[in-house]
Amino acid sequence: MSVELLVVGAGPAGVSAALWAKALELDVLLLDGADVPGGQLHSVHFHPQDVPGFEQGDGPALAAAYARQLAAASVPLRTASPAESLDAAEGRNPVVTLRGGESIEARAVLVASVVRRRRLEVPGEREFDGRGVSFSATRDRDQLAGREVVIVGGGDAAFENALLLAQTGSRVTLVVRGEPRARAEFRSRASAAGIPVLDHTRVLEVKGDTRARVMRVSGPGGERELAAEGFVIKVGVVPNSEWCRGPVRCDADGFVAVDERLATSAPAVWAAGDITRPTPPSIPVAIGQGAQAIAMIRAALRGR
Ligand SMILES: Cc1cc2nc3c(=O)[nH]c(=O)nc-3n(C[C@H](O)[C@H](O)[C@H](O)COP(=O)(O)OP(=O)(O)OC[C@H]3O[C@@H](n4cnc5c(N)ncnc54)[C@H](O)[C@@H]3O)c2cc1C
Repeated sequence: MSVELLVVGAGPAGVSAALWAKALELDVLLLDGADVPGGQLHSVHFHPQDVPGFEQGDGPALAAAYARQLAAASVPLRTASPAESLDAAEGRNPVVTLRGGESIEARAVLVASVVRRRRLEVPGEREFDGRGVSFSATRDRDQLAGREVVIVGGGDAAFENALLLAQTGSRVTLVVRGEPRARAEFRSRASAAGIPVLDHTRVLEVKGDTRARVMRVSGPGGERELAAEGFVIKVGVVPNSEWCRGPVRCDADGFVAVDERLATSAPAVWAAGDITRPTPPSIPVAIGQGAQAIAMIRAALRGR
């Protein structure tokens, strides 16, 4: 199969890019590894207040609006189609191979395939996954409601999970490796809700029997054990760039390096959204980069 432009990833960056591409009459195909478009929006369980024009609703509601908008604009979208590798070299079109072996050749590829959950990689974390260790308090809210819960992480997701669980009557403690990085609004709401934050504290191990019972941590006061009924790990994300690393230069953490025109080191390959490590990683920046990338790609392909 061959298209003019292949957009890999249907989060805010990829959706914005695909809508722009369609409006500019590029022959575009939008791919996503997940079953529905929206990307990280499916993890945003509150109203994102920095998105102009989106007056109410949570992340999944915005993702549903994206799906409707893509359908209304007749943007070809293939879901459940993760990209597995990229072949790109000077003098020929890039080719993306999907899981299952199908290859798609394109005159231009836009990488907008962002992130997945990071793990702590400590003993017990994988062993007790699903038996007291959770990676999403929103998904496991019913089991965690009203219980003693430790949440690990200092970013927006950890604080958001802590606030959601506190609302269900859980007694929550936050364990943060350094200083909390969550937005000020979340930090002050956590403080107002009386949620203790153990900062500069590292997790050493999760221990238990048939399920996780204790987290061993090391902090300013030395080592200690935190007993709880649930342990939620929200320590950020790692970029989904393995499939394009090699032809595309990435930084030491796996984020794609781009120039001011959002071009990567590989010929005919651009990138947009959180995968480029923008400041701040956010819905409006992802949307803006998606649009900007299409302007650059159109100029490269059509000369205007
Ligand atoms: C809890 C939480 C709260 C947040 N709150 C806010 C907020 O209030 N305001 C705000 O502006 N931002 C917020 N953000 C950040 C915002 O959601 C992201 O910055 C934005 O979603 C980034 O968009 P993106 O398109 O770059 O990536 P993503 O949304 O991550 O989308 C990437 C897409 O790529 C797909 N993909 C990955 N690998 C592959 C592959 N190999 N092949 C095909 N597809 C692939 C994924 O399935 C996904 O759909 C929040 C994030 C979280 C987690």
